[in-house]
Amino acid sequence: MKAAILHGAHDFRIETLPAPQVEPGTCLLDIKACGVCHSEIHQWQHHQEGLEYPRFIGHEVAGVVLETGAGVTAFKKGDRVAAWVDGKGYAEKVLVQVERLFPLADSIPFQQAMAEPIACTTNAVRRANLHYGDTLAIIGVGFMGLVLLQQIKLTFPQRLIAIDRRPQMLDLAASLGADMTLNADEVNVADEINAITNGRGLDVVFEVGGSEATLNMTAALCRMEGKIVIFGFHPGARKINDLGWWNWMAFDIINAHFRDLDTILHGARVGMNQLNDGKINMSPLITRTFPLEEIETAFQAAVDKPKGFVKAVIVNP
Ligand SMILES: [Zn+2]
Repeated sequence: MKAAILHGAHDFRIETLPAPQVEPGTCLLDIKACGVCHSEIHQWQHHQEGLEYPRFIGHEVAGVVLETGAGVTAFKKGDRVAAWVDGKGYAEKVLVQVERLFPLADSIPFQQAMAEPIACTTNAVRRANLHYGDTLAIIGVGFMGLVLLQQIKLTFPQRLIAIDRRPQMLDLAASLGADMTLNADEVNVADEINAITNGRGLDVVFEVGGSEATLNMTAALCRMEGKIVIFGFHPGARKINDLGWWNWMAFDIINAHFRDLDTILHGARVGMNQLNDGKINMSPLITRTFPLEEIETAFQAAVDKPKGFVKAVIVNP
């Protein structure tokens, strides 16, 4: 089978590998789609110290069951599925343990069926434990923020505000259910939030942007004893420099990151059910597809984010 192996910065090579052999409790998948994830970009852009190259990555897989191993009853040959895998997704085939597979409705195209990001967003909403009547904001409405937005809407918030600097992302947020959008380049966001909450601040703020600026904005918008949900990925140096303020404001700080596999798989199951039932709309979010041979171009697009770009997916015929 063909696979795209990452040998270093800007160096994916298409190689021919033996296809994996089915084992008890697993299914062999014919990969139809694998999403390009923001979390993979850094290891492609620069050679990362501490990471071993060559790397066989890709973890947002959907496809068709080709073969089932002994003891597998939940799936059969020909079933459409989304999979939670921890790599080996930029290829033609992958072997997956059966408990990491999720049925995919005929109505959902493969390139829209990504169990891993949906597991993250679903678990973030679950852990946030939102309350009836909450007024919320999401800071950063890229791909993950726009999925999160739709899942938060399913909890019927009083008002859900999308904040970003990219007009086209804010337009998408509005079309996917945001009650209000604020462009941080055009308005003073804190003033606007004060005006609509009578100076009180927001009940819940989801920080998705993953930068020091978005963390600071989160703390500026949240009410005393309000909830801050840190969804953004913050590797490296410390970014909260005014913890005294966070402390004084008695924020309820939620780290929406998950490591326990059972939690992740449960989130994927709940989120995939929502997707299959049409409660999450991925179609405006998957803006570019590329064949495996063009994976370098796909990663470049994910870095450059040309106008209208939200997410790239690698697809196999
Ligand atoms: Zn991912």
